[in-house]
Amino acid sequence: MCLSPEYYAQEVRCKLGLAGPINIVEAARDLGVDVCEEALEGSDGILLKVEGNAVILINSNCVYETRKRFTIAHEIGHFYMPHHNLGKFVCTISDIPGYVPDGKLEQEADRFASELLLPLHELEGQLKHSPSIDTVRRIATHYGTSLTATALKVVEATCEPRSQENRKRLRTTNPPPECARI
Ligand SMILES: [Zn+2]
Repeated sequence: MCLSPEYYAQEVRCKLGLAGPINIVEAARDLGVDVCEEALEGSDGILLKVEGNAVILINSNCVYETRKRFTIAHEIGHFYMPHHNLGKFVCTISDIPGYVPDGKLEQEADRFASELLLPLHELEGQLKHSPSIDTVRRIATHYGTSLTATALKVVEATCEPRSQENRKRLRTTNPPPECARI
């Protein structure tokens, strides 16, 4: 059975004992993945897997720390999800609102990254009232996510049909028992 990207992101947070905002480079290294910066042509990030070793290359020309964080989280998704079993991923991350990445694996890696950096259940706990742009800004600063990615996640958490769908999705993908005890 193929589990959801959100499940795998929660599993990583659980395994590494992460709560709230995370140091994404440390999280990658704790999973055995090195992170390096290099000037890349035409991509934001690359995941290379060779004989059990893995390295994430991040484009040093990218000036936005939030975008670099999202890219690292996206590449961790490719590394961690068992059915993403290719030796190499070359990825371009878009900040365009409503952008839908090409291909199922890219969409899954984006969903994984979003949940790893900003878990839906933590976000819902902070949204007792209708969110304002100041709320979105505060959450984005706190979690080190872009305003766009945060706003999309806030919509996901508060828009009723999507929210119900998410709750159902998360219910069917509860963390494994050993994590639930943490
Ligand atoms: Zn990708």
